[in-house]
Amino acid sequence: MDLSLDDFEVLISEDRIRERCRELGQEIRAAVGDGPLVCVGVLKGSFIFMADLVRAIGGPLTCDFLRVSSYEGTRSTGNVRIEFDLTQPIEGADVLLIEDIVDTGRTAEFLLQSFQVRQPRSLRFCSLLDKPERRVVEVPVDHVGFTIANRFVIGYGLDFDGRYRDLPDIRALNPKKEAELAH
Ligand code: 5GP
Repeated sequence: MDLSLDDFEVLISEDRIRERCRELGQEIRAAVGDGPLVCVGVLKGSFIFMADLVRAIGGPLTCDFLRVSSYEGTRSTGNVRIEFDLTQPIEGADVLLIEDIVDTGRTAEFLLQSFQVRQPRSLRFCSLLDKPERRVVEVPVDHVGFTIANRFVIGYGLDFDGRYRDLPDIRALNPKKEAELAH
């Protein structure tokens, strides 16, 4: 599939993202209290969102990261695996897992299960975007930035073929192009 930036239209502006991050930060700090929080970003898609979110959360916190990969062409949570893992144990900690987008829910289900067995004191899950129409497994998303329709999006950390993560806004593939690709 060959796509250029002209095939995308702005779905969520930089201003709306900034405002929503501020609100989410306050919401999360209110939910977890004033104590230390371990913020875990799922690479690579969440890194830009996480940078803004942690500054909006404020208070005592540390950051860690992990990376997962899914095997192509298969369809179960058993096919998500951790490519590299956290640098610190999370046992007894208040943890916030930060994702870019929840689509089928498979990645989130896998990550939440894999975190629960490490026995954190509390575990919350925040995703910048949520595509509920595409859900295959139910996962609890405690904090959602924006709920969107079933469209392919890029920007603000999300990529197409490794590119466009640096866009300041979130853009969706335009419906005309999407229809062309469906044929
Ligand atoms: P799930 O396991 O929920 O199906 O997939 C989650 C992952 O799929 C996300 O972390 C993201 O990497 C990828 N993904 C799902 N929808 C989109 C999208 O619209 N745009 C981009 N760039 N990635 C997506």
